[in-house]
Amino acid sequence: MIIIMRSHVTDEEVNAVENKLKGLGLGANISRGVERTIIGAIGEERSIHKESLQALSGVEDVIRVVKPYKIVAREWHQENTIIDIKGIPLGGKKFQVIAGPCSVETQEQMDLAAEKVAAAGCNFMRAGAFKPRTSPYSFQGKGVEGLKMFRQAADKHNLPIVTELMDVRYLDDFLEYKVDVIQIGTRNMQNFDLLKEVGKTHVPVILKRGLCATLSEWLMSAEYIAAGGNHNIILCERGVRTFEKAYRNMLDVTAIPVLKKETHLPVIVDPSHAGGKAELVPALSKAAIAAGADGLLIEMHPNPCDAWCDADQALAPDELSTLMGEMKGIVEVMGREF
Ligand code: PEP
Ligand code: MN
Repeated sequence: MIIIMRSHVTDEEVNAVENKLKGLGLGANISRGVERTIIGAIGEERSIHKESLQALSGVEDVIRVVKPYKIVAREWHQENTIIDIKGIPLGGKKFQVIAGPCSVETQEQMDLAAEKVAAAGCNFMRAGAFKPRTSPYSFQGKGVEGLKMFRQAADKHNLPIVTELMDVRYLDDFLEYKVDVIQIGTRNMQNFDLLKEVGKTHVPVILKRGLCATLSEWLMSAEYIAAGGNHNIILCERGVRTFEKAYRNMLDVTAIPVLKKETHLPVIVDPSHAGGKAELVPALSKAAIAAGADGLLIEMHPNPCDAWCDADQALAPDELSTLMGEMKGIVEVMGREF
């Protein structure tokens, strides 16, 4: 930690900072320049609150030199993490596509969706049984019955399932139905109790970015899961809220290379919730691949017009198949396997 003192700082103020650091178990390296005095704190600073130093008289700024996250930081773990999901790797050389409807509706819809996801060549299936809806009067999801329908449909095609957990009270149901990947949605990215609970399992977790979360806040949420012992974490960029109304959210493509530098965890992209319109999904998917994403999470419905949730952004089965064909070349140019 570096403590920058105001100009014209007094010796008493510098001593007070030095004593405070001593009290916190840290050493101090004082460098007196012509205009500024800078104090370098020496020792383990992760558990120390910047604010406790910032409040001292004469302190202008306090800058951390180590990252507040540790387990998820590339600084501590150089190699890319590859997550094994029922024998299928996510995060390695192979680019993965997870597709399926926004929500589980009926057994017929899920059976047809699973058939189309498998036919398009995707290795994982998504669908929400518990839906975070803005209005309490909108369809809230089929709940545990939906998990059962999802499992039955996906098992016919050996597709591992990805589904959102919103409430810790349903974690046992997720374990009972052997959910292969637990999705923590945007609205729960900072539901720390939920993060701690999934951190106690070993089930892979897709952690979506909060509506307006910074990369650091997002990585801290991942650290919550990792700190519990579950290191099987996949980050999913799904667009952030901005002033623009022409699309649902703004896909933060820049986040992909930055995350790749900051963390060893796999990074995937959800072009569907970013664009909010099916016609935008191909372009955003291709941009994500080119920026270095490890995979995509795409909404596909057997009959988009009839979808109970997010109908505007769902691809039709043939659109998904066409997109898979178009993406292959880009994935390979990026040195990955499709
Ligand atoms: C979803 O994936 O269905 C979903 C609700 O996404 P998000 O949490 O990104 O809004
Ligand atoms: Mn959706």
